[in-house]
Amino acid sequence: MDIFQQEFALSQPALRVSFGPGRRRTLPEEAERLGARRAAVLSTPRQEGLAQELADALGPLAAGVLPRAQMHTPVEVTAAALNDILAMRADCLVAVGGGSAIGLSKALALRTGLPQIALPTTYAGSEATPVLGQTKAGQKTTTTDARVQPAVILYDAELVRALPLPITVASAMNAIAHAAEGLYARDRNPIATLLAIEGMKAFRTALPKVCDNPQDLDARGETLYGAWLCGTVLAQVGMALHHKLSHVLGGSFGLPHAETHAILLPHTIAYNAAAVPELLQPVAEVFDGDSPGKALHDFARRINAPNALRDIGMKENDITTAAEVALRSPYWNPRELDLPGITALLRTAWAGDAPL
Ligand code: NAD
Repeated sequence: MDIFQQEFALSQPALRVSFGPGRRRTLPEEAERLGARRAAVLSTPRQEGLAQELADALGPLAAGVLPRAQMHTPVEVTAAALNDILAMRADCLVAVGGGSAIGLSKALALRTGLPQIALPTTYAGSEATPVLGQTKAGQKTTTTDARVQPAVILYDAELVRALPLPITVASAMNAIAHAAEGLYARDRNPIATLLAIEGMKAFRTALPKVCDNPQDLDARGETLYGAWLCGTVLAQVGMALHHKLSHVLGGSFGLPHAETHAILLPHTIAYNAAAVPELLQPVAEVFDGDSPGKALHDFARRINAPNALRDIGMKENDITTAAEVALRSPYWNPRELDLPGITALLRTAWAGDAPL
């Protein structure tokens, strides 16, 4: 298979992206640029203090703070938040936090059409996509809709400086997963491939520096640049086996999002490398290994990423069920999926062994 494509199509949403330490201070002018007069600031309960700081900075442009966001955007949390923003008469949504805060903002934007400003504090990349994942009764469904794409993204390295190292590395692996799967996407395009390679390089260079010194603002800035590139890949092309398994383990078994991605990635990439070795060769090159799966496995070990599903709460008894659930409604994947293969992959990831 040739990595170059003669035919492709890509869409680029109209959005404004602003990078730099301290960029959060431009929030009032960004809100005004959108015509906002009553912005609601959304966060998880844990980041309520930061949300309040932003509301204080917005001054008369702030309608209130809603620190209700939860992982995987449960629809009942959205329903309660919707009542609150209607009562506040909010005309703009400001999300500060990781994919959970941004997920709540997107879910509200889908229901109200309000414009959004995102200030990411993790590397998950949701701010760069028109994609919304929501959970209802333990089932995760994904919607792609232009209304959920934030209009403005403020990448402020000072906001990720306090991201604890365990979340930092898991979240970075989550971002790298978007890039790695983007390389073999059925609807891939040369621009997304460039972004994916550049995004992985940013993490390859900066993440070890962040692990040495989490306060290193330059390195934090470079990881945010990587997060944006990898998130943009996710916005442009479809994901495959890796994301399917992560969604099943997160949605149906309650495993934490970023850690699950981090653990599965070397295994899912090794599985698919057997079918599309040329397309995944950039992963081996960027992470400096003999094969894509092994290179990611070694990089993950070097940065102390979580490496076993059993360590994040998965029960051994659930391995077969998880494989069955994933195969019931699979995403397109470059390699055929079979129950013994996926069960073996999950068992290896559960135990924390090197990829098969
Ligand atoms: P998260 O947003 O749930 O954050 C994890 C925890 O870390 C939260 O308690 C949060 O408050 C805290 N936190 C975040 N930033 C912090 C910081 N700088 N300092 C201290 N604490 C901080 O985790 P996530 O991995 O960013 O997002 C996961 C969610 O995002 C999932 O629901 C996933 O499905 C979704 N997601 C969606 C997309 C998309 O395009 N739709 C893409 C990626 C992720």
